[in-house]
Amino acid sequence: MTILYTVHPGGQYVNLENISDEEMQSGIKVYVNATNRCPCSCTFCLRTKKHMAESNTLWLKREPTLEEILAAFKKYDLNNFKEVIFCGFGEPLVRSDDLMQVADYIKSIRPDLPIRVNTVGLANQVHNRDIIPELKGRIDTVSISLNTPSKEEYYKLTRSKFGPDSQDYMLAFAKECKDYIPHVVLTVVDHVISDEEIAQCQKICDRLGVTLRVRPYEEN
Ligand code: SF4
Repeated sequence: MTILYTVHPGGQYVNLENISDEEMQSGIKVYVNATNRCPCSCTFCLRTKKHMAESNTLWLKREPTLEEILAAFKKYDLNNFKEVIFCGFGEPLVRSDDLMQVADYIKSIRPDLPIRVNTVGLANQVHNRDIIPELKGRIDTVSISLNTPSKEEYYKLTRSKFGPDSQDYMLAFAKECKDYIPHVVLTVVDHVISDEEIAQCQKICDRLGVTLRVRPYEEN
């Protein structure tokens, strides 16, 4: 099971157990693969293409327990890590309680190690409560998929189980995150949306006071 991995240039996921000491010591970004669950079913997500999902090294036949995630971290010298990212092949904040405990462990060893969450921004709906204050002091950056400036298009793309207002929920999540997390970033993917749509996304970010990041296609 791949719990911790890094991403090589070209987008290849590599289990941390398979990387060389030399690469480890050069300083790596470490991704945490805690769940395949997600409240969305994006049209572009590999998870929705079952045969591709199951052949992906990040597909989890079962979720690692909190203890297994902590044990995975304890195998390594955290001084070799330059960032930890809760990401993987699902929505990490589905397991926010467990991941906050992982963040506490990391910060207890290396308070300066940046921790990021890549999220769809619907965790408050998933848990039916406001989880954002719990991210304070644990998460340094939250990176949320904006996907498109259009609420209708967002729902068509993500097929969120929370319905047609899902983009509004996500934007409210981003806005509130600003009160608790130093860096709040909304992302779109280059070439998937037009320059005009990117300009509209920039306006949304300006209104919320958060950063827009245009990710190259295929980047993690
Ligand atoms: S939010 Fe991410 S993990 Fe969830 S369906 Fe969309 S692309 Fe897949």
